[in-house]
Amino acid sequence: MTARIIDGKGFAEGLRGRIGAAVSAMCQAGAGAPGLAVVLVGEDPASQVYVRAKHRATVEAGMASFEHRLPASTDAATLLALIERLNADPAVDGILVQLPLPGHLDSDLVINAIDPSKDVDGFHVINAGRLATGQRAMVPCTPLGSLMLLRAELGGLAGAEAVVVGRSNIVGKPMAQLLIGDSCTVTVAHSRTRDLPGVCRRADILVAAVGRPEMIRGDWVKPGAIVIDVGINRIERGGKPALVGDCHFESCAAVAGAITPVPGGVGPMTIACLLANTLTAACRRRGLPDPEGLTA
Ligand code: NDP
Repeated sequence: MTARIIDGKGFAEGLRGRIGAAVSAMCQAGAGAPGLAVVLVGEDPASQVYVRAKHRATVEAGMASFEHRLPASTDAATLLALIERLNADPAVDGILVQLPLPGHLDSDLVINAIDPSKDVDGFHVINAGRLATGQRAMVPCTPLGSLMLLRAELGGLAGAEAVVVGRSNIVGKPMAQLLIGDSCTVTVAHSRTRDLPGVCRRADILVAAVGRPEMIRGDWVKPGAIVIDVGINRIERGGKPALVGDCHFESCAAVAGAITPVPGGVGPMTIACLLANTLTAACRRRGLPDPEGLTA
């Protein structure tokens, strides 16, 4: 079997087009463009790339983008004061603090200072609790994007056996909650799981969010399964830098029914879902209904 390649890049472009159209309708109706504030502390090169990409995407969607760059030496009080100002700013619908923060800053404390209704990353403990209890939440972008790809691929997910490899608060846990919400039977695997290949082979839906290049091999995959590879790993191959997922693409694609590539799979969905969450936050703050198809 050769797997269908799930075109996350194309799906994300479509999503961004729909979001742009909804933003322009919102502006024409006089409701004002949604605004996203991104806070970057320090000079981490990967974070700078992500923040630039987020800024470009926000502006392209017709939203207002507010960037706040602070030096790595910024203390907690200064950062918390900025978040307070953004919480109170009516032009700001979404606030994102780019992680990781420098080691002297407590990221839980900082994230939990964000107004939960503006927490477009969905990392605030209130949003995590709402998601876990099936209440209306802001949902973390990468799992939300993965869920959208799965729904598009499979239609309904009810009854499917799903295995999520990874239990981080950012990807693994919210992914599992979303799959439970769509009535899958969910197993969450991690570094202490016994017989990981055997656990993965049970999955109709296999989500890899591990951070280990090409760890999941084709003989771990049930024939016909849908494989969502969240991993983004920078490696050297043949003396050149390369980007690979947590799944060994060739061997997994030979067995799976469908698979996301890296790059071009889940990655582009993450930024598209950040825009989706910003639009959702803006609608909720204006008393409008949630935009269709952009939430869990
Ligand atoms: P974390 O490091 O926070 O979590 C990794 C998880 O994988 C942990 O739960 C860990 O288990 C588990 N794990 C590690 N090694 C093994 C192993 N040998 N066997 C089984 N489980 C293992 O990573 P994130 O969740 O933040 O990210 C995961 C991947 O997704 C990374 O490659 C990251 O770059 C990528 N990513 C991609 C995004 C995108 O936009 N596409 C966005 C966010 C992340 P334990 O808890 O036991 O330690």
